[in-house]
Amino acid sequence: MQTLVGFANSPRLRPALQFSMSILKVPKQTRAVRLPQSLDQWGTILQNVTQRSYSWQPDVSKELLDAFPGSQRICPVHCECSLIQHISTPDGSSWDNVPPFNYIGVSKLSCSACHLWIKSYNEQEERRFYTKGSHGKWCWPWGMPEGGKPLSECMSGKVSSEYYSYLLESGLMRLDDDSTPPHTPEWDEDSDEEEVRDMIRKVRSRVSMSGGRVAAFSH
Ligand SMILES: [Zn+2]
Repeated sequence: MQTLVGFANSPRLRPALQFSMSILKVPKQTRAVRLPQSLDQWGTILQNVTQRSYSWQPDVSKELLDAFPGSQRICPVHCECSLIQHISTPDGSSWDNVPPFNYIGVSKLSCSACHLWIKSYNEQEERRFYTKGSHGKWCWPWGMPEGGKPLSECMSGKVSSEYYSYLLESGLMRLDDDSTPPHTPEWDEDSDEEEVRDMIRKVRSRVSMSGGRVAAFSH
């Protein structure tokens, strides 16, 4: 209310309140996510993330296969991502020329996947959006909004990077065990070990993978 009153008293912003207001319901979006169906397929994903084989990977593959049965899941696109995609997509109306507010009001903190998707979106697009933050948990099912390949690849890189950080924190991998970090925009090949450790310290506060499980995202 204070913001609205301030808005109405601002000579610069007051004219905006002379327009009529309307409420639009953002259409519900879902994505069909293809899940790995065998231990080998999960094992390949884990090897791609870690870029080598580890003795713990068969056990984790079994855990993932049990946790995510079935070949396909219809996953909802969470509301903040749906809204960002909706207001970023021109619909031929006069609102296409009106830039939206870049702060997305959400009643709860965003999940990790939404937080990373918004971060990826902001890196790929000219316009930037923000929510009040993330609670750092991974909420399955989660569907990625339809988008271009660069956005999907950026998102995949960030999820892989978070999982890699989790493996380092949990002791399943060590930086000195002759492994190579996955290439993502945040993992420059020129980064020295201290820079990598610094990045891991930064993500430590928000990485929270339940039970060592990693979600699969369809491209
Ligand atoms: Zn979410």
